Amino acid sequence: MPRPRTPAPTLTAAGEASLATLPGVGAKLAGKLAERGLVTLQDLWLHLPLRYEDRTRVVPVASLQPGVPAQVEGRVEAVERGFRYRPLLRVALADDSHATVVLRFFHFRAAQVAQFAVGARVRCYGTPKPGQHGLEIVHPSYRVLDDDDGGDLGQSLDPVYPAVEGVGPATLRKLIGLALDRLPQESVLELLPASWLAQRGLPSLRTALLTAHRPPVATDVAAMSDGRHPALQRLVLEELLAHHLSLRRQRIALQRHRAMALGGKDALVRRLLKQLPFRLTGAQQRVFEQIRADLARPQPMLRLVQGDVGSGKTVVAALAAMLAVEQGAQVALAAPTELLAEQHLNNLRGWLEPLGVRVAWLAGKVTGKARAQVLAQVASGEAQVVVGTHALMQESVSFRRLALAIVDEQHRFGVHQRLALRDKGQAGDGMPHQLVMTATPIPRTLAMAAYADLDVSAIDELPPGRTPVQTIVISSERRAELVERIRAACAEGRQAYWVCTLIEDSEESEKSGHGGPGAGAGNRVEATAAQATFEALSAQLPELRVGLVHGRMKAAEKQQAMAAFKRGEVGLLVATTVIEVGVDVPNASLMIIENAERLGLAQLHQLRGRVGRGAAASACVLMYQPPLSALARQRLQTMRETSDGFVIAEKDLQLRGPGELLGTRQTGLAAFRVADLARDIDLLPQVHALAEELLEHSPALAERLVDRWIGGAARYAAA
Ligand code: ADP
Ligand code: MG
Repeated sequence: MPRPRTPAPTLTAAGEASLATLPGVGAKLAGKLAERGLVTLQDLWLHLPLRYEDRTRVVPVASLQPGVPAQVEGRVEAVERGFRYRPLLRVALADDSHATVVLRFFHFRAAQVAQFAVGARVRCYGTPKPGQHGLEIVHPSYRVLDDDDGGDLGQSLDPVYPAVEGVGPATLRKLIGLALDRLPQESVLELLPASWLAQRGLPSLRTALLTAHRPPVATDVAAMSDGRHPALQRLVLEELLAHHLSLRRQRIALQRHRAMALGGKDALVRRLLKQLPFRLTGAQQRVFEQIRADLARPQPMLRLVQGDVGSGKTVVAALAAMLAVEQGAQVALAAPTELLAEQHLNNLRGWLEPLGVRVAWLAGKVTGKARAQVLAQVASGEAQVVVGTHALMQESVSFRRLALAIVDEQHRFGVHQRLALRDKGQAGDGMPHQLVMTATPIPRTLAMAAYADLDVSAIDELPPGRTPVQTIVISSERRAELVERIRAACAEGRQAYWVCTLIEDSEESEKSGHGGPGAGAGNRVEATAAQATFEALSAQLPELRVGLVHGRMKAAEKQQAMAAFKRGEVGLLVATTVIEVGVDVPNASLMIIENAERLGLAQLHQLRGRVGRGAAASACVLMYQPPLSALARQRLQTMRETSDGFVIAEKDLQLRGPGELLGTRQTGLAAFRVADLARDIDLLPQVHALAEELLEHSPALAERLVDRWIGGAARYAAA
């Protein structure tokens, strides 16, 4: 009989031991730690210090410097206990250097006061600041030494860990120490090739962890906190490598599936091209050719098309759709908002119906009999192209033969929604090809990290005939001038947008600042602001027809207002950020964005992309509420300086960091433990090279790396 296999004592096995196996960790403490994601020994190994305190030496009081933390030791000279607005304890400490420093406490217990008898020997650590009588240290950490206590000094710097709620710093430090004592030997722990580490002067994992937690006295701690220290680089590299490998693994898994090969005679593609009122740009042609090559293969495509606002992604998607339709298969096109989905519907109907292609519509508002009818058409295959919102991804929607799933502005959908659409393929046909489009380009390096499981194409050229948009930044105090500017533009037959954004600082408004569907209270506040602005502007511009669109309006009302603006009957459209994505009215040449300082660069860029779509010179006015913070000023300055979405994305990355830019939720890019993409981005080329090497020569190691760093999360994603 085969014996049950016992796992080899790998790091994964040792590291996966529960924290409950540490002495002193009961259910309650384990619970507190788990809330912070600290569940296994390994989690503690990777809970790295924020900074360090040097208690390895004692500094003479006379050489203390304001603002520089240090350890001193002396005898209590005087104690003053008082009450000035609040309790106060001051202890004067003097040493052989004949200088005095004052320790000051605002909260303390009676027992503490008793400890500070005159003459007692005290060693303390803290940051001195200038006080009334020379330097003082507020709430130092301290220890009263017995006369026979030599007061041994530490051999390494003391780590200060990121706080864990409900767990005291001393407890946390002790637990991490215990966990480190159980670090396996190097031969068991190490997964990276020794030669590779040696070449780069990087330490082993064991050494790196011990150095990070217990740095020897001479360690360059500044290099440790800014990521330059080899110990830290070593940890970061391994983590980035594990993430990259995990994405690569998902991609390899995807490639094992089959998909319909969509290489046809292209009759529909040619007919569509012939009928378009424009010629494709070079970039559109190139990207379509990339897609065409992907689709011709019997493995599922997974391609991201990045293209700035207005670069013409929709027509590329339509061309790809024709390849599927020609093979008798179906295409789904999902957009994150109803407004955008509707616009796609109109575009596609305009282009495809003359070719005899049936385009169906499925959104949340399609209900009852109409919905049943659409579902039947989708199930029978009568609907060849199905355009819609999240509604497309619902379980009740089943296709006869879905060959291509297109998702627009995918960053607004969750990864799981994209997967839900993908899973609507039919068993016999394998998986549908996936085409993902976004107008929020992310920097190339970041794309490689975040989307190692995707192929990326860029439509990096705008159709001809666009005039650059002039960007103006002004204070809201000059609002009256803007009203005149709108009056003038509309008198010339142009149209304008006035975008109202939230001014509340609530969490709710943060969430809905991105205008996504389902934003609750934020939408309401935004809608109220838009309504008020609509009324004020209507009164100030009586000769104009003013329209209003916001997220709380009924879909039919919204659509009517948009249609009237598109037809040119409405001169000024007051809107919330619902118009951010995709709205296309070439005659609109002026956009005013209120509270622009509150919006992220990507969002401002999206909004600005609504103008400059026609031949007329266009302007985008970024109106801010003074005073401007330094960061906001920099953001607005960036908007004025460039209209290149990729440059803006790089800047956004610098200003906000990758977490916010990508939104871990949207990309499926898990949060990093030690890496910081903004700081460590230069390591990515090395990571990629090493990933290639490992996958080729030691795939088993690659597996273990992913397990070590991502473990359960990756298994979940692969499911
Ligand atoms: P986005 O990439 O922002 O989704 P769209 O697909 O909405 O851009 O295209 C923006 C506008 O440009 C649409 O009106 C579209 O018909 C038009 N367009 C697309 N490609 C071209 C082209 N090659 N030449 C001229 N106009 C184009
Ligand atoms: Mg678009």
